[in-house]
Amino acid sequence: MELVFATNNVNKLKEIQASIGSGIILKSLSDILCFDDIPETSDTLEGNARQKAEYIYSKYGVNCFADDTGLEIEALNGEPGVYSARFAGPQRNAEDNMEKVLELLSTETNRNARFRTVISLIIDGKEYQFDGIVEGIILNEKKGAEGFGYDPIFQPIEHNKSFAEMSLSEKNKISHRARAIQKLVEFLKKG
Ligand code: IMP
Repeated sequence: MELVFATNNVNKLKEIQASIGSGIILKSLSDILCFDDIPETSDTLEGNARQKAEYIYSKYGVNCFADDTGLEIEALNGEPGVYSARFAGPQRNAEDNMEKVLELLSTETNRNARFRTVISLIIDGKEYQFDGIVEGIILNEKKGAEGFGYDPIFQPIEHNKSFAEMSLSEKNKISHRARAIQKLVEFLKKG
């Protein structure tokens, strides 16, 4: 079986191919010659993931899935959430985004936050969704140099290191994306 993952992120593709095994061949957007700027105009992670998967399914008629992730901060009523990539502006700069979060939380004692990933899978026109969550706190300052995005200011609960102080394999054991992928893989293996 072939399955298109609506991404051109080679690392995400490799990570999922490794856990799915060889029974399912994963293809990227460039593998199917899709170079479109796929719209993500929903105000929820669920809506964006679905919008991306439906775009691919309706244009190419292939079984596929798409993901969307956000950082949800309790004291900011779930922001930046679906706007995580562009929280500090359209330049989508991780440093600017982290500065904005630290500034907004500078006098805040409730540091609770979570990363949430939603995956939308479309098989023969039917949609299935899977989510993955990791709970944690927003640190008072950046720590560590690994990872990407908000990793230096996010520390998962029951750990004393930020995501950016963890190796990729350490982070992948507990991350929101890994948890959502795990549910997707279990579903695909069952079917
Ligand atoms: P995407 O949906 O995977 O593109 O993620 C949207 C945005 O959420 C990214 O641009 C990052 O700002 C943030 N993000 C997603 N996953 C992570 C993560 O594992 N660590 C830190 N930030 C993340």
